Amino acid sequence: RSKTAGRGRVEVFDDLLRTELGRRFELEKAIRAGLAAGEFFLHYQPVIELSTGSPVGVEALIRWDRPGYGVLAPDTFIPLAERSTLVNEIGRWVLAEATAQLARWDAADTERSGLTMAVNVSGRHLATPGFVDDVVGALRREGIDPPRLVVEITETVLVDDPVCTTNMRTLRALGVQIAIDDFGTGYTSIGQLPHLPVDTLKIDRSFVASADPAHQSLVRLMAAAAHAFGLTVIAEGVELPGQENAIRSASVDAAQGFLYGRPVSAQEPLPAVAAAEVA
Ligand code: C2E
Ligand code: MG
Ligand code: MG
Ligand code: MG
Repeated sequence: RSKTAGRGRVEVFDDLLRTELGRRFELEKAIRAGLAAGEFFLHYQPVIELSTGSPVGVEALIRWDRPGYGVLAPDTFIPLAERSTLVNEIGRWVLAEATAQLARWDAADTERSGLTMAVNVSGRHLATPGFVDDVVGALRREGIDPPRLVVEITETVLVDDPVCTTNMRTLRALGVQIAIDDFGTGYTSIGQLPHLPVDTLKIDRSFVASADPAHQSLVRLMAAAAHAFGLTVIAEGVELPGQENAIRSASVDAAQGFLYGRPVSAQEPLPAVAAAEVA
């Protein structure tokens, strides 16, 4: 064979590598290897009850310490993982790690003992028939009471998938709490709230952080509706005291945000508790 033919093959191969498919495949491979190599870890952000100023729970947020890239935020790899069942593998790892951490905190009798643990669940994983087993398996292995776990589901996935709603109902019947994440940004109307198997509504940061009086009215409205249907309301992304005042006056129950504490590792003290001790 000629040299030109060989070069042609190399060019075709090169092109292939450069395609979206090639890049996706490489990243998927790296995620899989990273899961096996222990490159993923969780940070925990406190959920503060506004009436007491105390943490009542934490939310687990995944990070990836990818060799050569530094620590990557979930937005850089979860969307790709969601294109395949890889996100289910990530989801199982998160459930295992988060429940194991909860058990460790309980056993160590720390400031975090007795808190709830919220995990973010991909719509794809939730729509898998084995999802309930994945959750129940993690709880059983670690001896965690189901109500200590909060499953956070982005509002956009609630839209009419029968497996999703069945899984949510089953988990809820077992005592696991369900929260709608990023509420207000998706397709759920307030009118659907009484029909959804959920316990908590998390109002999206875009409404909480906004200085627009219309957005503040919406926060008030969402909180009032949620309360009317017996749901607990959490405001996401509270950064400033003025925003806390606004959500307080809107009767929001609890809050998360940099004002109380950034997501931190399992070893670092909860920032909100540290602040309260200083005061
Ligand atoms: P989310 O569940 O709505 O989490 C809140 C995000 O806002 C987190 O970003 C958090 O670090 C950030 N945040 C918290 N307080 C503040 C604040 O006061 N100001 C600002 N500007 N940001 C704040 P993060 O950790 O990058 O996570 C982004 C999203 O990735 C999450 O949004 C969630 O949808 C997804 N995610 C995180 N962990 C997991 C996971 O384990 N599995 C899946 N499937 N998705 C995850
Ligand atoms: Mg969340
Ligand atoms: Mg959110
Ligand atoms: Mg989000």
